[in-house]
Amino acid sequence: MYRFFIQSGQVRLKETGGSLSITGSDVNHISNVLRMKVGEVIDCVDETGRAYLSRISSFSDQEVTCEILEVHDPKTELANSITLYMGLPKSDKPELIIQKAVELGADRIVPVVTRYTVVKLDQKKAEKKRQRWQAVAEAAAKQSKRAIIPEVAGIMSFREALEEAKDLDVLLLPYEREEGISHTRKVIRDIQKGQSLGVFVGPEGGFSREEVDQAVAYGAETISLGHRILRAETACITVLGILMYELDAD
Ligand code: SAM
Repeated sequence: MYRFFIQSGQVRLKETGGSLSITGSDVNHISNVLRMKVGEVIDCVDETGRAYLSRISSFSDQEVTCEILEVHDPKTELANSITLYMGLPKSDKPELIIQKAVELGADRIVPVVTRYTVVKLDQKKAEKKRQRWQAVAEAAAKQSKRAIIPEVAGIMSFREALEEAKDLDVLLLPYEREEGISHTRKVIRDIQKGQSLGVFVGPEGGFSREEVDQAVAYGAETISLGHRILRAETACITVLGILMYELDAD
């Protein structure tokens, strides 16, 4: 079933049922690309994660109106919010990481310039990239039936990222020189439901020792992801996969 993202202001709930309207670029997508018809059933999710099983009742150029059949909890969100602080890698790797991070349950992705980041982007190019990455996040959210569209933030420096992350409950930094996967298991199993998490993964060149020390001073826990050196994208997918395995709802 197709899923569309709406704002709660577009929903008119009644005691039983109600209606909602879909506006913006989804109108063209539903009418002309998917060629959907009156009577077809879709799922719409608002910004709070509430989902509405709905039947299309009419079309106009500006909106698609639907009758709400059922309000439900899509159960696609983890009980913990996860922000991935992604040390900015080269070429199209950010796209891959963002797509997989959204599929695995991350709520926010922050591209971070670190000491060993190679990519250089001026402000204009950085904003264009961010918009492209946000579109990747939106497509991945639709495909994986997420109840929210994870945000891709503007590029931050490592220091800015630490300053914002210090308010999160748990900070993890996978570090290839950390030893002992049993420590990783313990740290991850100690995470309580509802805690907010920040995960820092380095770019191709990894984090410098100074960056690791800074992160630890901000409360980050260094963890191992095994005895092999993983590529940045593999490390992101691995740590988020482990978190999803431990934290997903039954
Ligand atoms: N430059 C490093 C080297 O060759 O030793 C490798 C950096 S790795 C490609 C990129 C990032 O993935 C690292 O900064 C770290 O966050 C993560 N990473 C890779 N392998 C890891 C492992 N075995 N344990 C924990 N983190 C790992």
